[in-house]
Parts: sequence; structure tokens; C-alpha cells
Amino acid sequence: MIDLSNIVADIAAEMAAAPDRGEVASYIPPLAAIDPARFGMAIVTSDGECYEAGDAGSPFSIQSVSKVFGLTMALGQHGEALWRRIGREPSGSAFNSIVQLESEHGIPRNPFINAGAIVVADLLLGRSEPGEVLGEVLRFVRTLAGDDAIFIDDTVAEAERATGFRNVALANYMKAFGNLNNSVDRVLGVYFNQCAIAMTCRQLAQAGAYLMLGGRNPETDRNVVSVQRARRINALMMTCGHYDGSGEFAFRVGLPAKSGVGGGILAIVPGTASIAVWSPGLNDRGNSQLGSLALERLVQRTGWSVFDPP
Ligand code: GLN
Repeated sequence: MIDLSNIVADIAAEMAAAPDRGEVASYIPPLAAIDPARFGMAIVTSDGECYEAGDAGSPFSIQSVSKVFGLTMALGQHGEALWRRIGREPSGSAFNSIVQLESEHGIPRNPFINAGAIVVADLLLGRSEPGEVLGEVLRFVRTLAGDDAIFIDDTVAEAERATGFRNVALANYMKAFGNLNNSVDRVLGVYFNQCAIAMTCRQLAQAGAYLMLGGRNPETDRNVVSVQRARRINALMMTCGHYDGSGEFAFRVGLPAKSGVGGGILAIVPGTASIAVWSPGLNDRGNSQLGSLALERLVQRTGWSVFDPP
């Protein structure tokens, strides 16, 4: 019998004593101000329990974890046609890299690198206004998490707009290839604000629960996506969710997971659990240093890696 209360408490205590916490992201100024000692973890299980430790109730900037929710919405609106504009291969490059866009004619390698998520934002926009789309995104994550307190952190969004030169470059480059329908400004308006959504580990684990349950959200008992789509989103999280650190993460943890430069990771154990961890210090690939270590310890103690026997 796995004692999850004990396991999460042990892991939080181990992380508090960890010598190397990584470096907090500094290119988005408000993120640089976050205390690197913060650590939170929440596990929502398929039987509806929630186990948590540390700062599991503190909101943090989910950043690129939001790309999972953006992709889910865009697939719902555009279906398989989305894949004409975005690939499904790991990039092996940094999250904000531009190099592959030249030889690949403005088609991003996958929806979880910045370039891919910017195309997803363009798809979500369609002919709507950025403000309406952001309202829909926020409603979507609030419904998934069953919590209306989730908000967009305007200070973070503004800082991203003021410093997001690489994202402006990526968007302009793809626009030149004809892979954005809306103006760069409007698309990035959606992208920057979506990245600035703030959530707690508890809210994030709950919001990701549909990916553990074959597409069914336990909060509403409604299907968010089909079984096949949930499986495919999980596959993309496994292969691309940690950028050029995806192979290493699969090697160490072996779960579909998506990271963000705010230090959050959403990890899915299909059929069993939805897990959110947060520790703001990052490794050299921009993924949470202790978040990855905490998940590694968790799968060692639970046998939850998808590569473990059931
Ligand atoms: N908003 C961040 C950026 O665009 C997201 C990157 C991330 O979380 N990896 O650079």
C-alpha cells in the first residue's frame, strides 16, 4: 500500500534540505524576485483524494505549463487541422529557439516550444479579440480546477510584453512564412497573458486531472477531450514537455509532464494521478531543478513511471 501522505511530506522535507536549487529565471523581471526556497507539491488521485505539502497553496506563474491548456482548447476548436501548422516532434533545442524555423518554413516543431504555442495562440484568436480569448482561457482553467480564484498576473504579463524580444522575433519570423493569421501584436497579447496565469499546485493538479482520466474532468464529470486526444496530449508532454531536457526527464522520471520557467511542472500518471510541483530554481534547460528531483523521488517510491510494470 502506497502511503502518499507520508511520501509527499518526506519529499518536501528532502527538498528543503537540497543543496542545489538551480537558478530562478531572471529574463522576466517579476520572476527573478521569487524566493528560491519555495517548494510545493500536490497530488490529485483518480479516487479524488488530494495530497499536498509545502507551498501547495501559494499561487505561482504557470508560464509554459499553460501551453497544455492552450493546446487542448485549440484542438477542440480546430481538430486535426491544427497539425498542418505545428509539428509533433521534439525539438532538441531551447524553448525559445528560432533556428529550426528557417529550414522548416515557419512550422514549429511542436506545440510546447514558444514558437508552437504562439501559433496555438493565433489559432485560439481566430477572428476574436485577445481579451475575449483570454477570458475563455481563464474560464477553461477555472472550470477544470473547479476554482474561480485563478487569475492572470498583470505585472508578469506586462513584464513579458516589455522584455519578450525573442517571442516578438519568433512571431515575426512565422508571420513572414504565412503561419500567423493575426497581427504579431494581437497574437502575443494572448500568449503573454496566458503565460502569466497564476495557479497553486493544488489548482494545477486538479486542472490537469482530465489527462489522467482519459479526458474526463472529475470536477464536472464531463469529457474535456476524447480518450484518444488525452493520450496524444500526454504523448506530446512526454516527448516535448521539457524542451531539450525532455529525454533526460523521461529517463529520470518517465511521466508525461510539462514545465514552465516559473518553476512549475504538471505531471500525469495515466489512470492514477495528476501531480503539480513548484520550485522556482531552474536547471540549465529552464526546467525546475527540484521539481524534477521531487518527481524522480516520487516515482522511485511509487513505481508510477509509465515505464514501470503496473
Ligand atoms: N513566457 C515564457 C516565454 O515566453 C514561457 C517560457 C517557458 O515557460 N519555458 O519565454
